[in-house]
Amino acid sequence: MIIDILTVVPEILNSPLNYSIVKRARENNLVEINVINLRDFAKGSYRQVDDYQYGGGAGMVMMPEPIYRAIETLKQKRQGYDEIIFTTPDGETYNQQTANYFSTLDKILILCGHYKGVDQRVRDHLITREISIGDYVLSGGELAAAVIVDSVVRLLPGALGNSESALTDSFQDNLLSPPVYTRPAEFNGWKVPDILLSGNQKAIEEWRLEQSIERTKRIRPDLWEKLDLD
Ligand code: SAH
Repeated sequence: MIIDILTVVPEILNSPLNYSIVKRARENNLVEINVINLRDFAKGSYRQVDDYQYGGGAGMVMMPEPIYRAIETLKQKRQGYDEIIFTTPDGETYNQQTANYFSTLDKILILCGHYKGVDQRVRDHLITREISIGDYVLSGGELAAAVIVDSVVRLLPGALGNSESALTDSFQDNLLSPPVYTRPAEFNGWKVPDILLSGNQKAIEEWRLEQSIERTKRIRPDLWEKLDLD
């Protein structure tokens, strides 16, 4: 899989994409991630990428021209993308289903916004998918891009040490994960539930499912209702 990220602040992405599972996946060639500086496609000695907004108002807007030039150049180099994603708080809310879908693709481009966002014509003509990572506003799309990349890369076959692990995480079946414990069996007088020490695998699986259901109903009734309807 190839993931290209277009940004005016590539430095922000140095750390999130260079450690742990994502690092290992890159080293093992499961994914190629390229962080590309949008300013390389801007003209003039100032490499201007933003300008005042038409109609007035506070905040700069990212100009269509450098973005167009960047996307067209990259598109040609990659011979097309499966999705060209724009990170934006007014996009569809990101979730595990979308992460699963992205992980099946070969080539994606993620455009990170800044300032007030990008000129609407970019969104109308160049973007195929608009993604928000939640109902709050970040100062730039880089952290949102990092969230998308991390959640997608860990789904690539071979990225996780134990390949089953991703399937038992929260959301894969619309249920939250059950509680997990490790040694010691008693710490500070706090005990691990007896059932987990019983060795009865069937009873343990039943208990985990019950816990998942209880947690989902309590913490995320919206997920539980969706599951009930399915
Ligand atoms: N004026 C915009 C917010 C701009 S925030 C609005 O009110 O909708 C600047 C940039 O940060 C955005 O262009 C986007 O790329 C990124 N960003 C901010 N919040 C985000 C979120 N919740 N999800 C994804 N990207 C976000």
